[in-house]
Amino acid sequence: MRLSEGLDAAVAALRAGRLVILPTETVYGLAADAGNADAVARIFEAKGRPRFNPLIAHVADAGAAEAIALFDDAARRLAAAFWPGPLTIVAPVRSGDRVCDLARAGLDSVAVRVPGHPVARAVLQAFGGPVVAPSANRSGRPSPTNFADAVEETGPSAAAVLDGGPSAVGVESTVVSVLDGRVALLRPGAVTRDQIEALIGPLATGEHGHRSPGRLTTHYAPDAPVRIDALDALRPGEILLGFGPGSGDPRWSLSPTGDPREAAANLFRLLREADREHPAGIAVAPVPMTGLGEAINDRLRRAAGFVG
Ligand code: AMP
Ligand code: MG
Repeated sequence: MRLSEGLDAAVAALRAGRLVILPTETVYGLAADAGNADAVARIFEAKGRPRFNPLIAHVADAGAAEAIALFDDAARRLAAAFWPGPLTIVAPVRSGDRVCDLARAGLDSVAVRVPGHPVARAVLQAFGGPVVAPSANRSGRPSPTNFADAVEETGPSAAAVLDGGPSAVGVESTVVSVLDGRVALLRPGAVTRDQIEALIGPLATGEHGHRSPGRLTTHYAPDAPVRIDALDALRPGEILLGFGPGSGDPRWSLSPTGDPREAAANLFRLLREADREHPAGIAVAPVPMTGLGEAINDRLRRAAGFVG
């Protein structure tokens, strides 16, 4: 299929209130018109996602984001530095009708992002309005980072599917809130804490931070039990996802050279592939907290069932 045909079908599906499998640079999304509450309800059904967990509105550019959300100076600087790209900004909602109540879980704030993937950008430009696009997995499971995994997870719910190749980043966007003059990190992701602090200074912490409703549940989990920071010998029937030179079978390595960027891109694919072998467990070697390591360790802790 040529992209233009797929693009037309995807935009027609969005206009009709149907769902679309949409590639982004972070992970594959299951997309719907953010202003159409019926369409958004279909996403929650298809994913089995708790309704208190709000969705991210994806838009074509920063101007479209500011039509939805109220940005202060810090939000504008973050948008200018990291968009298009894997950063989501939560800010006070300006206009409730463009991103329906259900998509915002009834909050008076809204999460917005301008993705960088050319296919996602083409869809957003052609559609001309905000599109919610949570990861295309059923709720709680690892996010799909390639077309086949996305179709396996939620393909039957989608009226159109777009193949954009493997997701370059492989973990979800970083989520920051910019509310009441403070910036807080709600979800570590592809844009690192250091990158953000270099731009706007120290992030708010503790009681000065903000809360994110979607961060309360176990997430990203394969069927096999996940054991993280595995330093001791493998237990019977376990597969080891290694990290760095000499760490287990290279076929199962997150990154043979110990590169967090490569590990992020491989993380969800390897969790899925290991799970298909029906092992007694999936052990994961320690991944340092530097750079993308914070996002990787966050996803691994949740996959292992450690919440918070
Ligand atoms: P997902 O769509 O699965 O990538 O998740 C979106 C993330 O953004 C979840 O962790 C949500 O809880 C978070 N989020 C979306 N909207 C808001 C909001 N208004 N306030 C706080 N967190 C939000
Ligand atoms: Mg998700």
